[in-house]
Amino acid sequence: MSARILVVDDTPLNVKLLAAKLAKDYYFVTTATNGPEALDAVKRDAPDLILLDIMMPDMDGFEVCTRLKADPASKHIPVVMVTALSDVADRVRGLECGADDFLSKPIDDVALMARVRSLLRLKMIRDEWRLREETAAQFSMPKPDTEEPDDTGGAILLLEDDAHEAQTIAACLIKNAVNTTQVETTDKLASAAMTNTHDMAVISLDLKDDDGLRLCAQLRASEATRNLPVLLIANGDEIEKVAKGLDLGATDYLLRPIEAAELNARVRTQIRQKRHYDRLRQNYEQSLSLALVDPLTGAYNRRYMDMHLPMLFARCKATVRPLSILSIDLDYFKRINDTHGHAAGDAVLKETINRVLASLRPSDLVVRMGGEEFAVIMPDTEQKTALLVGERLRESLAEAPIPLPSGGEPIPVTASFGVASVNHESDATPATILDRADAALYRAKETGRNKVVGEDQG
Ligand code: GH3
Ligand code: MG
Ligand code: MG
Repeated sequence: MSARILVVDDTPLNVKLLAAKLAKDYYFVTTATNGPEALDAVKRDAPDLILLDIMMPDMDGFEVCTRLKADPASKHIPVVMVTALSDVADRVRGLECGADDFLSKPIDDVALMARVRSLLRLKMIRDEWRLREETAAQFSMPKPDTEEPDDTGGAILLLEDDAHEAQTIAACLIKNAVNTTQVETTDKLASAAMTNTHDMAVISLDLKDDDGLRLCAQLRASEATRNLPVLLIANGDEIEKVAKGLDLGATDYLLRPIEAAELNARVRTQIRQKRHYDRLRQNYEQSLSLALVDPLTGAYNRRYMDMHLPMLFARCKATVRPLSILSIDLDYFKRINDTHGHAAGDAVLKETINRVLASLRPSDLVVRMGGEEFAVIMPDTEQKTALLVGERLRESLAEAPIPLPSGGEPIPVTASFGVASVNHESDATPATILDRADAALYRAKETGRNKVVGEDQG
């Protein structure tokens, strides 16, 4: 994984040493020797990761980190503070400034490289989400609220088979309103994590007869737990194990002896980040559905079809497979509105789509083209089959009048259908096939309604 790393340190020798280590692993390294220079370099080079010294004259590392994290343009860049300070208070202060980790000098190469890899991987995933959010914003949807999520309280799952140790951890987290559920085996943690009710997992690597590292891999492999932050707890001399855990997808770690303040600061950071990215994902899904789905019927809208049909079309052409389109228009729908009111009309539209969806395959796509006009796009479907599907849909509508939510007589409803199909040899385009389906639909209307008409039929 190639990436840009900015190294900031006021001692040129330190910069040189770190830069050389990183360059050996093919990272692209830029450097700065004081705070203001670092801030400029971030603006100029948009690094993927920053290794930041704390003790620098004028503007120290805490200050640089605070400024980076306050700027929306740089707040997502992971920061690792690197320092000769080994005081817990300093570590906690660094984490509270928004740093993602804290490494003490002299730097352990294994820990450094594992941390770098793990933070770069996280950043890639996060960049992907930020990009998707930008894409969703292009649908000109109102931007979902961007308020910072609540990062107080929370619930963690703790894997620890030593009762006393578990108690100590729980007692220390509860001070920040973080509740702990202790489990004693990896299996129990894995199944509890599936319930999706916890903000993070804390895993001890020092278990009597269980392997916490295997659990890391397992949590990452499963869709339901992939985004659950994992903090490893290991003995001070087990940095190699921790490095392996980070490579397997753990998001943070803490070495014994456990300092309450540091544990709390790290847990808070993990919970805050999880909530932030959960919210990005939710916003994305929500704005996608708002932008691409018709709110009344739940069918896709025209905009979605304009993006999707060309892709389907190209795929059918490339794989020499047929594609059919069914154009649907309700018969005398205006009369329904005029007689029973607009709300009744809406109910009829909803029920129509329910019936249509119930008779289709999952790979068929239903689009509300506008008003009471719909289209069904059927990949891998020849005209002959499409006509049969149309007939099935026609019957499912005509056979039973549609009941209204307001009560009263159910309303008899019929629709007309036009079918057009493409095979690989034709020079059809997404636009021409839609036109052809509409032309067939027009003939169905002209020749009596409540019928299905294919392209070569009268
Ligand atoms: P035809 O059989 O020729 O298709 O006749 P029609 O009355 O169905 O066709 P027309 O295009 O004249 O009328 C369609 C009506 O659909 C007019 C419009 O008010 C109504 N309509 C469009 N969108 C909606 C909607 O979202 N809800 C309701 N209730 N009615 C709608
Ligand atoms: Mg109509
Ligand atoms: Mg119409």
